[in-house]
Amino acid sequence: MSSSYNMVAHMHIFAAFTPPERLLMGPGPSNVAPSVLKSMANPLVGHLDPVFVKMMDEIKTMLRGAFLTKNDMTFPVSGTGSAGMEFCFVNLIEPGDEVIVGVNGVFGTRMAEVATRCGAIVTKVEAPWGQIIEAQQIADALKKVTRPKLVAIVHAETSTGALTPVPEISKLVHDAGAMLLLDAVTSLGGCPVLLDEWNVDAVYSGTQKCLSCPPGLAPVSLSSRAMEVARTRKNKVQSWYLDVNLLASYWGEERVYHHTAPITMNYALHEALRLVAEEGLEVRWKRHEQASRALKAGLEVMGLKIASQEGHQLWQLNAVAIPEGVDEANVRKRMLTDFNIEIGAGLGPLKGKIWRIGLMGETARIPNVKTVLSALGQILNDAGRKTDTDGALQAVQ
Ligand SMILES: *Cc1c(COP(=O)(O)O)cnc(C)c1O
Repeated sequence: MSSSYNMVAHMHIFAAFTPPERLLMGPGPSNVAPSVLKSMANPLVGHLDPVFVKMMDEIKTMLRGAFLTKNDMTFPVSGTGSAGMEFCFVNLIEPGDEVIVGVNGVFGTRMAEVATRCGAIVTKVEAPWGQIIEAQQIADALKKVTRPKLVAIVHAETSTGALTPVPEISKLVHDAGAMLLLDAVTSLGGCPVLLDEWNVDAVYSGTQKCLSCPPGLAPVSLSSRAMEVARTRKNKVQSWYLDVNLLASYWGEERVYHHTAPITMNYALHEALRLVAEEGLEVRWKRHEQASRALKAGLEVMGLKIASQEGHQLWQLNAVAIPEGVDEANVRKRMLTDFNIEIGAGLGPLKGKIWRIGLMGETARIPNVKTVLSALGQILNDAGRKTDTDGALQAVQ
């Protein structure tokens, strides 16, 4: 062999990557339980290996439990939450279909974009960022649209910290003969998501928010009605990769090769869902609620307010209004470099107006609330403000 094949000699050899241990209190990813991380170090098996296939079945069963649904077609799409969003739209929408999308933040905006790319005629129902989509707005839009096929709502808007209630909207949507699609990326595992009780036709989520699993899979669920719509389309689904009719043969009974499932990611999801089941959904929701209440109590003592709509504020994502005169980017930078804490910035119209403090999954614990409050207090005081950090920590108790 000629030495010109020895490309290795030309490659730079870097040190192995060793990330710092951060406290992840932004909009996701959240911190991951040690057993979930450990599961990812397990040996690989093939994606059609009987032991893997059995594990896939367990994942489907546990996902039905987490979504509180009996939907047969409940499984993780290979890809992040946004892949779950695409999955729902590409399978249910054909060119010319009329779709109503609630837009009150980044993810509603993204849904409208995805629906448009599917050829849908999109009607946006908008609310100021930080506010919910009101049922009356959906009722009005349904009257304006000739043949509404689908109404899409973001349950927990991670970009603003608002939780839009589903039941009333669902009733309106179904009375109008349309299907309801829900973005439950940030809500699943952090607050009630009652798929069957709320009569949701299609839902997608993600792994790295309140399920506390690394990013990489998008749990989805389609009702039998939604499956029927996907099965009886006039045109083939334009995405081969996300076509539920093909995916059904791999995740269903047949186990036909479609694509190679990300084996390790599925190990992680299996373990993360096992932890959710072990803790119990109600206990887990309560834990998120308590962590958020504690954070708010502390923030109040520090003179800081939640920016999202009163009565509809998320537990798992707290939008903190930035006080006048504070260099908000510097606060985030110091959080990260001096305290190893990641918090999120505001996006779009909320850029420079809010910090986003996530209390998702494993991260939603009182000691973490105290850590972030004392770091924030110290940083603000270093900048010359007089923040009662001790009082805030007492209020947390
Ligand atoms: C994070 C998020 C998404 C997108 O998920 P990715 O994993 O980033 O692709 C969609 N919707 C909501 C509400 C989210 O919080």
